[in-house]
Amino acid sequence: MDTAVIIVAAGRGSRMGGEVPKQWQSLRGKPVLAHTLAAFAGFPVVLVIHPDDRARADTLAAGVTLVEGGATRDASVLAGLQALAGTGVTRVLIHDGARPLVSSRLVERLIAALDTHDGAAPALPVTDALWRGDAGLVTGTQDRSGLYRAQTPQAFRFDAILAAHLAHPGGAADDVEVARAAGLDVLIVEGEESNIKLTYPGDFARAEASLRGDAMDVRLGNGYDVHAFCDGDHVWLCGVKVPHRRGLLGHSDADVGMHALTDAIYGALALGDIGRHFPPSDPQWKGAASHIFLAHAIGLADAQGYRLANCDVTLVCEQPKIGPHAAAMQTALARIMAVEVGRVSVKATTSERLGFTGREEGIAAIATATLVRG
Ligand code: MG
Repeated sequence: MDTAVIIVAAGRGSRMGGEVPKQWQSLRGKPVLAHTLAAFAGFPVVLVIHPDDRARADTLAAGVTLVEGGATRDASVLAGLQALAGTGVTRVLIHDGARPLVSSRLVERLIAALDTHDGAAPALPVTDALWRGDAGLVTGTQDRSGLYRAQTPQAFRFDAILAAHLAHPGGAADDVEVARAAGLDVLIVEGEESNIKLTYPGDFARAEASLRGDAMDVRLGNGYDVHAFCDGDHVWLCGVKVPHRRGLLGHSDADVGMHALTDAIYGALALGDIGRHFPPSDPQWKGAASHIFLAHAIGLADAQGYRLANCDVTLVCEQPKIGPHAAAMQTALARIMAVEVGRVSVKATTSERLGFTGREEGIAAIATATLVRG
């Protein structure tokens, strides 16, 4: 590996407030810096810290080289560069500790750009109008063409940026300024809106939301059910009463489609099946309307933070014909689960007169449900 990373985390972050510097504050249960370090997993990392943070830094991932920073940002970067001198590193990425959301794609693009340039840094064009102001009043406007919002990591050929820092008088806003002062060419690489620098308290909420998106959890479950025909003049299927010359035999209302769907949701949650939650041995569920079961399953999903992304129910029978009722069934299921009807599919097939469904001894149903969290 000839590419190393310097993470600058020696600042005190006065704009954020709070007892602890922002790079050490908790973001989804871990210090911001733990997220930042995770973004560079696999690279050798030099972490430049404030001397007061030594104890905190010792709790972070092993294998990170700790270096104490200086009074200014460029002094801290120089300390990091000097720690890498003589190690054989040829490329270096210099990154703000308070940007925990940088993507590996951006890192790869920056490293690749060093094949053709001394330096490469991410930035986004300024799209808002720019004003000058004084004492709360607008005093002028500023042409935004050609202006960029700079981000990190900023990537450089190692020897060139070390020499540039050693020659710089200090006071630079970032390492691109240092590089340019030494005559290095720096390529602008398209940055990422999500690569925010945590500066104000509200930035933590944005970062949390972004990390939740990364951690999206998708659960798939299936369900299968069969009920036999018996005497009767209607069947309940997916919450709709369908006239028929037979009924369906069952402990509850025998809504075979809704039972399959309910089991699919329990399955996605790895929480068993209807029989576990509503034992047939318990007389209170005799003749129960199946929407109680379905509402219970979706309630368990909701309690765990999952929502139904979609479900698909297939009824297998020769008779009754499902097509004329399918839309009403989708509406009924969607209402019970409190989701948009477009997330609910009900369809049917025959079994070509084969087997028990083909002989019209009963109806089978299969169902799939997808739950998502995050
Ligand atoms: Mg059943």
